Amino acid sequence: MSALACDVLIIGGGIAGLSLASALAPFASVVLVESEPTLGYHTSSRSARQLIPSYGPGPVQELTRRTLDLLADVQSATGLPLTVPRSFMLVGSGPDVAARAHGSMRHLAPSEALELCPQLRPEAFTAAAIDTDCVGTDTDLLLEYHRCSASDDGVIILTSAPVTAARYDGRAWSVTAGSRVIGAGVIVNAAGAWADDVARLCGVEPQHLQPYRRTAAIVRVGNAPPPGSPMVAAADDSFYYRPAAQGVLISPSETEPAEPGDAQPRDGDIERLIRQLATRTTLGITSVRRAWTGLRTQRASTLPVVGFDAEHPGFFWLAGQGGYGFQTSSAIAELAVILLTGLDPEILGAEPTHIGAATAALRPA
Ligand SMILES: Cc1cc2nc3c(=O)[nH]c(=O)nc-3n(C[C@H](O)[C@H](O)[C@H](O)COP(=O)(O)OP(=O)(O)OC[C@H]3O[C@@H](n4cnc5c(N)ncnc54)[C@H](O)[C@@H]3O)c2cc1C
Repeated sequence: MSALACDVLIIGGGIAGLSLASALAPFASVVLVESEPTLGYHTSSRSARQLIPSYGPGPVQELTRRTLDLLADVQSATGLPLTVPRSFMLVGSGPDVAARAHGSMRHLAPSEALELCPQLRPEAFTAAAIDTDCVGTDTDLLLEYHRCSASDDGVIILTSAPVTAARYDGRAWSVTAGSRVIGAGVIVNAAGAWADDVARLCGVEPQHLQPYRRTAAIVRVGNAPPPGSPMVAAADDSFYYRPAAQGVLISPSETEPAEPGDAQPRDGDIERLIRQLATRTTLGITSVRRAWTGLRTQRASTLPVVGFDAEHPGFFWLAGQGGYGFQTSSAIAELAVILLTGLDPEILGAEPTHIGAATAALRPA
């Protein structure tokens, strides 16, 4: 086995691990290990690709707004088309929409909602609200941007390298990942649905993170919404849809507990959703182009877990991003860099008060 040494070993090559690798690279020597032969294979290649500043609890909304600013900076510095404007509209009963319409959402009359989304059946909703500060994101491009930026700054990225053993001697870790043994001062646990398993393997108490299934599909339709039209979600969490490059993206919005693994769609899930959408919309779905399932992993509070473990000084959590992993990614990476290096937030252009609040809200239990 060949040996490697670094300041920080990141376990997990999804958006959490890769965005931290690129943000941390200028300040520390970093190795990132990923079990699978390709990066972003699990949840990070299975999202709906939407960043919604009004979605989630208060700290998540803050992190989303900061992520949008950081991505806009990258976009203007590199010219990469990482995001495109795409609003988000909630529809449903008055009480359901009122309960879910947070932050920057604006209430709409049903007639205004129908003008923006003529594929909705008027009888299917009585209230609507819209967030026009949202964007869609090209998640493949974003993952690739972080991979390139991390590699350019010296991060060693190893794929087909599952972590199977880890030992801490009081000062440093010795970690077996695939055929390598890696010495590291700190382990960052960015293992998505496996984050609690990785903690146990390292002798650290888990954070009670639970993976939940969520399925989506790209379908062909007879009555397509125009490309720039909003993502539409039922306020009772029974479906969402949005225009996509090759049709329409649809999801039953399910939140069903699952074990960590390579989740796959089940027979009947998409067919049931198609029947339901026929009663709520005039999309006229004709066939399914492709369907997939991913695991959204979160703790009971639904807040991500970011920070050093309370009992273990060499173990850092970067997990539990649930349904907010892309929309919070750059801000969480920034927060993690500050906590890992002790850097003054202002050097990165971050607001110290926001960093303080996020540190407290996301602290491991
Ligand atoms: C249908 C769906 C729609 C979604 N829509 C959105 C959206 O619109 N906007 C948004 O912000 N979020 C969305 N999400 C959530 C978002 O996709 C996730 O929050 C995010 O991808 C989680 O990233 P991650 O890096 O934590 O996990 P992952 O992408 O799962 O990465 C973790 C990695 O760790 C690796 N790993 C695990 N154990 C080990 C080990 N022992 N050794 C080495 N590597 C290991 C795994 O192989 C995996 O690749 C959606 C999710 C789903 C399923």
